[in-house]
Amino acid sequence: MVDPVRPRERMVREQIEARGVTDKAVLSAMRTLPRHLFVEEALAYKAYTDGPLPIGEGQTISQPYIVALMSELLEVKPEMKVLEIGTGSGYQAAVLAQMGADVYTVERIKKLFFAARKRFMGMRMFSVKLKLDDGTLGWTDEAPYDRIIVTAGGPEVPEPLVAQLADPGRMLIPVGASKRNQSLILIEKRDGKVTRTDKGSVAFVDLVGNHGW
Ligand code: SAH
Repeated sequence: MVDPVRPRERMVREQIEARGVTDKAVLSAMRTLPRHLFVEEALAYKAYTDGPLPIGEGQTISQPYIVALMSELLEVKPEMKVLEIGTGSGYQAAVLAQMGADVYTVERIKKLFFAARKRFMGMRMFSVKLKLDDGTLGWTDEAPYDRIIVTAGGPEVPEPLVAQLADPGRMLIPVGASKRNQSLILIEKRDGKVTRTDKGSVAFVDLVGNHGW
């Protein structure tokens, strides 16, 4: 497949810039990364459309705009240590890595974990570190993280993640009783204090964890 540069540029212009995302590093990363390589070949022709897509195992790669919005809200600077929970296709992790972050990502489904790892190898993107585990526990050995991004939603914020957030630090996580009733929550840690801000409604797949939810 020829690299679809034009559909990708249009995606950034019409779905992302048009909705108010201005972070140059985010726009540049999404203009550069071959999103069509993060979905199955049969769905590659839909890779630059304005919505989520199935990636198998009942999971999805997020809508491009949501990836852009979260990457902007996270305020990632080069060299920052970022933890992602929910590797899925690997696309969000790749965007953060392309922005210069040192990315650690955790996925609980074996098949998706191996597929993402293979993808990163194929793209020679060696800076993303992957782990197969329950991400609600975080990635203790590598903590603390300047930024944490959770790309699946649960009813509560897993406490280990807040504990593994650096001070100062920012974390984004969809929180809600169900997929139809979820808010993107920004958690900020500063001088030992933790604050929460609601950034609007989202619809992510379930954050599955060993916490009795
Ligand atoms: N960031 C992904 C979106 C993936 S969808 C992308 O860019 O493609 C959410 C992912 O979270 C799914 O792959 C799901 O298996 C994973 N997930 C759900 N609960 C999890 C948990 N407790 N730990 C790790 N991964 C989890």
